Amino acid sequence: MTSRPADLPTLSHYDAIVVGSGPGGASVAHALARQGQRVLVLEQGSAAPLRGTLAQMAGIGAIPGKGAFFHRDASLLVRGIATGGSSALNFATASPPPLERFAALGIDLAPALASCRSELPIGQLPDQLMGPMAQRIMQAAHAEGLPWQKLDKMIRPAICRTGCWRCVYGCPYGAKWTARDLLDEARLRGAHILDRAQAGRMLIEHGRATGVEYLRGGVAHTVRAGVLVLAGGGIGSPRLLHASGLAPRSLPFFSDPVVAVMGAVDDIDGGAEVPMAAGMALPEDGLSFSDLTLPAPMYQAFALQVGRIDRLFAHRRTLSIMVKIRDQAGGGIGPRWVDKTLQQPDRERFKRGTALARRILAQAGARHVFQSWHFAAHPGGALAVGGGGPAAVDSNLRTSTPGLYVCDASVLPAPWGLPPTLTLLALGKRLGQHLQRAA
Ligand SMILES: Cc1cc2nc3c(=O)[nH]c(=O)nc-3n(C[C@H](O)[C@H](O)[C@H](O)COP(=O)(O)OP(=O)(O)OC[C@H]3O[C@@H](n4cnc5c(N)ncnc54)[C@H](O)[C@@H]3O)c2cc1C
Repeated sequence: MTSRPADLPTLSHYDAIVVGSGPGGASVAHALARQGQRVLVLEQGSAAPLRGTLAQMAGIGAIPGKGAFFHRDASLLVRGIATGGSSALNFATASPPPLERFAALGIDLAPALASCRSELPIGQLPDQLMGPMAQRIMQAAHAEGLPWQKLDKMIRPAICRTGCWRCVYGCPYGAKWTARDLLDEARLRGAHILDRAQAGRMLIEHGRATGVEYLRGGVAHTVRAGVLVLAGGGIGSPRLLHASGLAPRSLPFFSDPVVAVMGAVDDIDGGAEVPMAAGMALPEDGLSFSDLTLPAPMYQAFALQVGRIDRLFAHRRTLSIMVKIRDQAGGGIGPRWVDKTLQQPDRERFKRGTALARRILAQAGARHVFQSWHFAAHPGGALAVGGGGPAAVDSNLRTSTPGLYVCDASVLPAPWGLPPTLTLLALGKRLGQHLQRAA
């Protein structure tokens, strides 16, 4: 029997249900709501306003088994469980999709990308918002002859505050773009956004997806729609497909792991700035780099993790460079666990990347250099479009079950190695257009 929560104006039948409200889900929900379709978004996390506090950030992204997963090699993978998904916590760097790679898969993402660019706040930070640590690292990279440059950010400079670091905990000022911005607009156009609603299983009837079972406040509900879009993220959607009997128990994935290489200078007293203000990519080497000034508790966690108690109180003087690698797909996303260890080519990439980061830090005059253990925040590729895997989606992001689509980082072609958000926004917009044509 179909039931619905009493406190929200939900219907028993929608044109489309989107499960998950990160960039992929919010983008497709927004596109469908704009067309006048009746849309329901189910999000297991909370819609509480972002406060920019350590406690709230930890609740969204650091609860073991929910937002944080420790692998067998003790490395960490994080994701955001909140309305807006990981965009609530992310570093707001916008990287364009590799268009030729998508074109080879029969996907023309250029029109959707152009449309996203025209609608979203994307651009480099003005000089006054680029912190002294990011500036020092950029100068040192230039002195090394490296093509280090300001990165595009999804930040509204007119609202962003100099000397602030809260974007990493969830910007409370509305300066950082998050997927909540799209959800707010979708809501104005009639979409229903239900937080703290955890989808469990898709309903499949006569071979077609027809609805979703979800839990809210300990009560089970069922809701139906002509179209279901899974957007539970790189970990959530493979699990939902498995729970619905449509994917194997475990699927390999990529995670774009990262190492922070850090060293102290004598003449900067800082530590409060927007991370990833500038950087460079070396795509042939599968490496990318950026400044990575994080709040003190995060820096201290890095120092403690590798036993550098002597560096624990040097946060305000420590320059930090993020080294990110494009890793091989591997490991597994299971129903209750997520595990991925580095492979030999990954380790070699990190070796080359951290050596270059150390060179830049030496050029910047940094001493007492040390590096963190690797960690990751871009799980994806388990249902890769064109991947040919047991649960891959087609070029319209459709699963092998009619009426059931996936639109999140799990459809990205592996290996990846880029900030995924802008690509997911473009994919969501394109899926919205496809569903309009198909209706
Ligand atoms: C610390 C950090 C920094 C990052 N920095 C950047 C950056 O600078 N630039 C960039 O491009 N990317 C960055 N990323 C990555 C980027 O934010 C993610 O790749 C992106 O948010 C993924 O979007 P998504 O749509 O795949 O899903 P997600 O953002 O993962 O959202 C999925 C949502 O689905 C919900 N969900 C899952 N399962 C269910 C279920 N069963 N029922 C209901 N809801 C469910 C989850 O709670 C979640 O809210 C960063 C990520 C982190 C964690």
